[in-house]
Amino acid sequence: MVYKGIPISPGVAIGKVYLLKRESHQVHRRSILPNEIKNELSRFRKAVEDTRREILAVEDKVKKALSSKKSRIFEGYRLFLEDKMLIEETEGVIKEQRVNAEFAFSMQLNKIISEFKKIKNDYLKERARDISELGSRVMSNLMDKDDKVLWDNIPPSSVLVAYNITPADTTNMKSNNIRAFVTNIGGKTSHTAIVARALEIPAVTGIKDFSDIAESGQNIIVDGGNGIVITDPDEETVTNYKRERKRYLDEQHSLQKLLDLPAVSSDGTVFGVEANIEISEEISTALACGAEGIGLYRSEYMFINSVTIPSEEEQYAQYKTVCEKMLPYSVIIRTIDLGADKLTDTVKMPAEQNPMMGLRSIRLCFKLPQIFKTQIRALLRASSAGNLKIMIPMITNVSELKKVKTIINEIKKELEQEGLAFNANTPVGAMIEVPAAALAADLIAEEADFLSIGTNDLIQYTFAADRMNENVDYLYEAGNPALMRLIKFVIDEAHKKQKSVSMCGEMASDPAFTKILMGLGLDVFSMSAIAIPKIKKIIRTTSVKEAKEFADRFISGACL
Ligand code: PEP
Ligand code: MG
Repeated sequence: MVYKGIPISPGVAIGKVYLLKRESHQVHRRSILPNEIKNELSRFRKAVEDTRREILAVEDKVKKALSSKKSRIFEGYRLFLEDKMLIEETEGVIKEQRVNAEFAFSMQLNKIISEFKKIKNDYLKERARDISELGSRVMSNLMDKDDKVLWDNIPPSSVLVAYNITPADTTNMKSNNIRAFVTNIGGKTSHTAIVARALEIPAVTGIKDFSDIAESGQNIIVDGGNGIVITDPDEETVTNYKRERKRYLDEQHSLQKLLDLPAVSSDGTVFGVEANIEISEEISTALACGAEGIGLYRSEYMFINSVTIPSEEEQYAQYKTVCEKMLPYSVIIRTIDLGADKLTDTVKMPAEQNPMMGLRSIRLCFKLPQIFKTQIRALLRASSAGNLKIMIPMITNVSELKKVKTIINEIKKELEQEGLAFNANTPVGAMIEVPAAALAADLIAEEADFLSIGTNDLIQYTFAADRMNENVDYLYEAGNPALMRLIKFVIDEAHKKQKSVSMCGEMASDPAFTKILMGLGLDVFSMSAIAIPKIKKIIRTTSVKEAKEFADRFISGACL
């Protein structure tokens, strides 16, 4: 069966489906050896005991807040945890059938739930839901609620299929040898897609109901460049795709020849090509792909991938390492851009009606001054170790930038008093990703040392089309004259103030737009490292003269 979705990360993968169903606890049958029985039983008893304790704690709270009558339901839960049919029989299954506790428990649980569902009494039927919820709690404790357990269960070389996948999940994939992934929802410039491209994991999204249609263990082909997914392919199709995969890898390989050549147009204009990174481990790939600097270090991933808020020392160590490794090149570290689709348990964010338009990014940092100031301290301290630039995301107006600069100046004074080294001239740049900021580029360029256009957000806010919503993907148009006019305005105004303009949104890595961006006068292209050779090749074979003519025609709408 062939499905067409949205291509979000190129490459071809052939593997077997692994359904990632986090909420419903995917359970696998695993045979155990006789000497493992004892351990399996004690894991199960501990999970039951932990659940009992959790329920007692909630019961206690409810008793205090409400009445003891309302807390009686918990008594029922606890009694159920002592139920012979559930507990003793689960233990019996572990011992006799020699299977893992998760499997034994889910078998018993399903048996009881289906018995309850047969009863023609609404009240008792309703209890089936309580039991299922309780079972879920036990299962969470059994699985340690830890993603790691889940990842460890996934056979290597699987193709992950899920309703949705978070950016943090994606960073886990590489180390777990996941070949590709397919999701029901998501957009090309979602952070999940960006991380997938950076880690070279082929991916397709936007296939409606795919996680319900696909079956675990099914053979699957993912063509990430074309957004095609094929389940149960025949032999001929597999052979064709193996050939396609080889062609793709050969093409990547041939681009390697360009690594050490400069990104200079055929008529002599030099452009910068830099890398976007999410984690410091990507530095080696960036250098290997010919990056001449880091144009965007998404520092929020340090927060997303950590169980506690990274301390000043931890951040300082990371930033310093990145700067040192990249010397003599510069490193633009963006202050944390959390919120919307980038969430973490470590930084609590309020639930909002419209998070993309809400308290995200620099707005959130203003609300959490301690976290922001700690990061600025770490960044300034690291500035003495290399060529570091600070970049502020989601700037909407000049006042925000001025406010940030005041905070930075205060921190500089603090560090001076403490006798800690930093580069007093550390450049501070602004990201242009909100249309209001683009239209005030002249005013922002006056305050900023450099500008960087974040097209991923700029497109969604310009066209009012959520970057993660596949239903409005058709409106999320990078190649629309309206957007190009905004970009032209930003570049022209910044240049009038002698400020350089880079682009770190995904548009910079799309070969379809290289020529027009050259024509508009963009100074630096910053992108996923693997895209650098391809973009460099276009720059080297295009003249600025022809690019300018093309840009003029495009902006006028003549190419529509
Ligand atoms: C952008 O919006 O273009 C950008 C680079 O920021 P992010 O994708 O991290 O939101
Ligand atoms: Mg952005």
